[in-house]
Amino acid sequence: MFQRARLQLTVWYACVFAAILAVVGSLAYLTIRRDLDNEIDASLESAMHGLELGMVQLDPQSGLFPFFQGRPDEDHDDDDDHKRDPKLEATLSSDLFYVATMGGDVVANPRRVDLEGVDLEALEEGASDGAELTDVAGDHQRFRILSQQGPEGSYIHVGRSLDARDRQLRTLAIVLGVGGLTGLTLSTAGGFWLAGRTLSPIRRSLEMQRRFVSDASHELRTPIATVKANNELLLRHHDQTVEANLDQVEAIATETDHMARLVSDLLTLARADEGRLEIVKERVDLAGVVSELVRDVQPLAEARGVALVGDTSAAQLEGDRARMRQLAMILVDNAVKYTPSGGQVTVRTRKAGKKVELVVSDTGPGIAAEHHARIFDRFYRVDTARARRDGGTGLGLPIARWIAEVHGGQIHVDSGPGLGATFTVRLPAAS
Ligand code: ADP
Repeated sequence: MFQRARLQLTVWYACVFAAILAVVGSLAYLTIRRDLDNEIDASLESAMHGLELGMVQLDPQSGLFPFFQGRPDEDHDDDDDHKRDPKLEATLSSDLFYVATMGGDVVANPRRVDLEGVDLEALEEGASDGAELTDVAGDHQRFRILSQQGPEGSYIHVGRSLDARDRQLRTLAIVLGVGGLTGLTLSTAGGFWLAGRTLSPIRRSLEMQRRFVSDASHELRTPIATVKANNELLLRHHDQTVEANLDQVEAIATETDHMARLVSDLLTLARADEGRLEIVKERVDLAGVVSELVRDVQPLAEARGVALVGDTSAAQLEGDRARMRQLAMILVDNAVKYTPSGGQVTVRTRKAGKKVELVVSDTGPGIAAEHHARIFDRFYRVDTARARRDGGTGLGLPIARWIAEVHGGQIHVDSGPGLGATFTVRLPAAS
């Protein structure tokens, strides 16, 4: 699913990029073509203007400008036809030429331009109503020609080969095409990589959610099966008293309690994931919260033969009082739960610089180092059977970590097998 989404994103990205490249490339091509054409047109017009001035200054009888004298039907030396007039020639730059025609025949072509294949009559016709710019194709090259009427029924054509302009435009098209394709290939590869990076946190979060749902269902399966089995047993003996089936009734009550705790913890984490759990901050003295809690848990600890000791000094912070109690309760409850009879659990609070600390240590079995990072994962237990027997949901420490983090703090464990466990929570102190 993610691979498909990644490919789709890449294709979209490539299409958008290709469209942008096509628009920018076409604009660049058209702008440069227009500039080249404008430059050619301007050079033709200024050359035509220069020629006009030159012709006015010439003495028609001087013979310097042959086509004033020569007529296509008259006998004349071919060379005469193309005699150069230095004064007129000087008005033209080297890439321009001029030709004079009359009745479709060339009467002057000083630069001996090969006009083979060019329809001169059509040019004359076009210019009969005024100056006309035309792109024409000869047998060997293309020209742009500005034609206008000259003296004595002649036509003057100033032209320029379009070869250089066409070559430049071809090179430009190749550069834009190759550059665009290279850019498109690179950006598509980049897009594929980016799509992978963008999708990977979404994939991770979806995988986490999927695992969470599957673990939660798995956790609920056992108590539901137990309740169902005991219920069936009770139904089979429906004529007996509750006392006669106390084991089943107690099992149902225990499993129902466990499910209620599990569902409540699941809801807490699901809402925390969505950011829907409100944290109402107020000034809280952790020492007060812990003293109260120690007092409340004392009977349970005593019942288990565990000495519960509170060692508190003022530790003020800005936080949610109920969540602080929940955090301390998770740690104290675990410590009492996992410490064997005869052991001790100590709960300390203190201010340490800009932080306040809550430290819960016990003399229980401890936790091997390889489990330290994982006990904060959802549903992770070091000894699954034991934890379930003790009524654990495997969600206590993940909730504790969320509470610490949402208050800008951290939680960590110090422990080793047989060395007891010490959980330390550090939170920003109130200023
Ligand atoms: P549970 O509900 O199973 O206690 P937690 O998330 O609170 O789940 O704890 C995860 C696991 O970490 C426990 O199952 C247990 O194996 C281990 N653990 C937590 N606190 C202690 C402790 N004080 N001593 C030993 N093991 C502990």
